[in-house]
Amino acid sequence: MKKIIIKIMICLILIGASINLGISTDTIFDDPLVTITDPYDGAIFDNPNIEVMGNAMGMGIKRIEYEILYAGGGIYSNSFDINPPVEYYEFSIDFVIVEGSDGNLITITAVDVENNEGSDSVTVYYEPSGDDIEPPIVIITYPSDGDEFNESDIYVTAVGTDNIGIIGYGIFHKWEEGSEDTGLIEFTNPLEYVEINESISLREGWNNIEVYMDDLSSNRGFDDVEIFWVFFGLHIDSIFQPVQVVYQDDPLYPPDDLIGGPCDYEARTGMVTGKNTYLFGHPYSDRDHIDITCCNNYLYDVTFQYVLKIYPDGKEIWRSDNITVLAGEIKTSTFNAPLQCTGNRFQWDIWSDNAKTKPGKIELTIEPDYTWGRSPCNCYSVEVDVILYKTHDLKVLFVPFTFGDGPAFPADLADISRFTAFDICYTDTLKPWWNAIYPIRESGLDIHRNRLGNIQKNLTTRNTNEIVSDLATFQALDAAETTDILNQLFEGAAALGWMRQGVAGGYDRIIWLVHPDILNHPVWGNAAGWAYMCPPGTVKQGVLTDWNARYHLSTHEVSHTYGLDDNYVVTGGVLTSRGDHAVGYWVNENRDVLPAAWDLMGAVWDIWNGDRTWIKKPNYIELLERFTNQRDPEVLGISGYIDINDNVELNPWYKLDQGYIDLEWGTTGSYTVRAYDINNFLLYEAGFNVSFNMISDYFYKYSVNETLFNFRVEWNDDIKRIDIVNSTSDITIATRSISSKIPEVTITSPSSGDQIKQGKYEITWIGSDDDGDSLTYAIFISNDSGINWFILDFYNTDNSFIANFSSLPKGDYLIKIIATDGFNVGEDTTNFGIKAKNNIINIFDHWMLRLI
Ligand SMILES: [Zn+2]
Repeated sequence: MKKIIIKIMICLILIGASINLGISTDTIFDDPLVTITDPYDGAIFDNPNIEVMGNAMGMGIKRIEYEILYAGGGIYSNSFDINPPVEYYEFSIDFVIVEGSDGNLITITAVDVENNEGSDSVTVYYEPSGDDIEPPIVIITYPSDGDEFNESDIYVTAVGTDNIGIIGYGIFHKWEEGSEDTGLIEFTNPLEYVEINESISLREGWNNIEVYMDDLSSNRGFDDVEIFWVFFGLHIDSIFQPVQVVYQDDPLYPPDDLIGGPCDYEARTGMVTGKNTYLFGHPYSDRDHIDITCCNNYLYDVTFQYVLKIYPDGKEIWRSDNITVLAGEIKTSTFNAPLQCTGNRFQWDIWSDNAKTKPGKIELTIEPDYTWGRSPCNCYSVEVDVILYKTHDLKVLFVPFTFGDGPAFPADLADISRFTAFDICYTDTLKPWWNAIYPIRESGLDIHRNRLGNIQKNLTTRNTNEIVSDLATFQALDAAETTDILNQLFEGAAALGWMRQGVAGGYDRIIWLVHPDILNHPVWGNAAGWAYMCPPGTVKQGVLTDWNARYHLSTHEVSHTYGLDDNYVVTGGVLTSRGDHAVGYWVNENRDVLPAAWDLMGAVWDIWNGDRTWIKKPNYIELLERFTNQRDPEVLGISGYIDINDNVELNPWYKLDQGYIDLEWGTTGSYTVRAYDINNFLLYEAGFNVSFNMISDYFYKYSVNETLFNFRVEWNDDIKRIDIVNSTSDITIATRSISSKIPEVTITSPSSGDQIKQGKYEITWIGSDDDGDSLTYAIFISNDSGINWFILDFYNTDNSFIANFSSLPKGDYLIKIIATDGFNVGEDTTNFGIKAKNNIINIFDHWMLRLI
């Protein structure tokens, strides 16, 4: 039982005597019953220091109040709490009584949880005899018994009084390991009343402070308090790392970027909002568990829970079971990693405004066991600060392409209405992996096959006007003409992506799927995939892949277009190394990707078989920076051909309501784009580079005389003219004035609502432009009310197109024609239906079902 020691000096307490007889109005509980067992009522003492003992019974006694009404007047009262409340409580309370014929009235009151009160009283007398045997009465007025401090240096105040005079005082300080005594500090003259105020340095943990005073008869009186110095009542320590794709502590790419500590860490690999995240231990070798250590500095046992929250969301992502740490104990709890959050994983929420990044953090705190009703512990938290990224979603379209006379598409690409082996590859195998290794939110990657119409089209070499209608013709071209044909596909991919970018159905990247022999050319060698490159800058768009390579090759090539370089070593024309390894974690598969995996820019092997292809941390970080741009302002897509003598041929440009900025104003390069207003005042400029080396995967490279540039810059309505300038010579090599009129296009066939038989069908339209510019058209089709658009034709200047609707299932469709005058874009859309044929099984619905 805790003993409360009270010593009273009567001359200090001269307030009026009144006893508060609280009356409960509560009817649920009976009032507590208080019984003073010692001393008996009317007892006489020859020593002023007495002890009053007894007990209290009731329904949840939460507080004991005690009071003494001194003989001759004066009152002192105090109380203490009982936590948790109890039904039976024994008390023992020290009092100091004084002389006087009317005695000292002592009242003990118990208060229950309903604030019902009950009390008992005794009157006792003090009758001293003989010489002065009374020691000074000493009271420590600060601090109070049981106080806890977070700092060492405090002050102690006390008062003393004596009937014959105090000659001096001292302080005796005890702690766990030792003690210190000031000795008696004497006054010049004896004093009947003294006040002292002394500073004192506490020791860690328990301290006992005793103030003593001697009187002229060498009687010593004292008071003492037990107090505590604790740094923190509960002190926790832990280290953990958030993991999305790669580790904060990546053993292959040091230095460790989880820095700081012990309580505040900084994770330098950013976190993508909306992407599933796991928490691991740290360092890498300890990633399978998280240790959390608690030091309990209190002198009592504490029960609490560890809690992890993420910010700025304020979301609780994990909470431990109850943990009890004994008084003075240092306890380490080990949890399996990844932490078993609800659903195993958590996400930072995506915010709605336009900021690209935000500071965030993971915070580990403890929360007291609320069943004890204890106030929050004096603890502190462990925090891992992160930068949160709101990244760009990616929409990718695979477009099968072949020349007018073939070669024929492989069976599963030729069949545009079925869910084929190709679709299974990219939906079930490629997409989950691609989504996992890219810094994009869950489901942030949307990939489609151009499933309502393959592109079968002749292309014409721009310089020699040779029509390429089949593979044999293509393979007979020289290197420059071959490059020209490929450049036209790259240019088309960029333009078609731009046209639909920023609206529903837009595509960030278009991947041409071509016959392997288009990439395996007698002049310039063999490849499985090509990415159009315009380095450095580094503006790269457009991808060609072997239509039989359906796994990771397309991701490798698209990664080129987002700035990643090849990561393999070729010596003497022979592949001698796959380049760098990668480690990481595949959150959605719950799989550790071991250091044996290769970076995808060095290998395009099957991830499903032995973790052989992943993404290395530097590449992930580069993509993360690239995908952070959330602004989709008005943009101008600029495209053209340039040769080694600075001859430029401009392609159609596209002014678009929304789009990704490939080239920011303010950059520099070997060529400069300059934008002027109507008064020929320079508004903006941006630099870009070109390369006259064609580099194919894996290691073939040759020089060309002409190449392509393709990029989008931010648009401003004040722009009236764009010049392209050689940055070295400052000579303008191309210029285009902005056409003010938007072209108009009207679809004439089909008419709205026409029902069309399966088979070949001629789409026709009329285009006009008030500036008299020549128009170029692209044709799109949709079977889902315009959510997704697929390409039927491009580079069309004929005002008609014969579509092959032989495989289209019965249903409703939309056709859209987009016209460009080289700058502005106009469009028209109409709806039509495909009629069923009797003997055609409608398998399209099954295909749709498979997608879900
Ligand atoms: Zn490559």
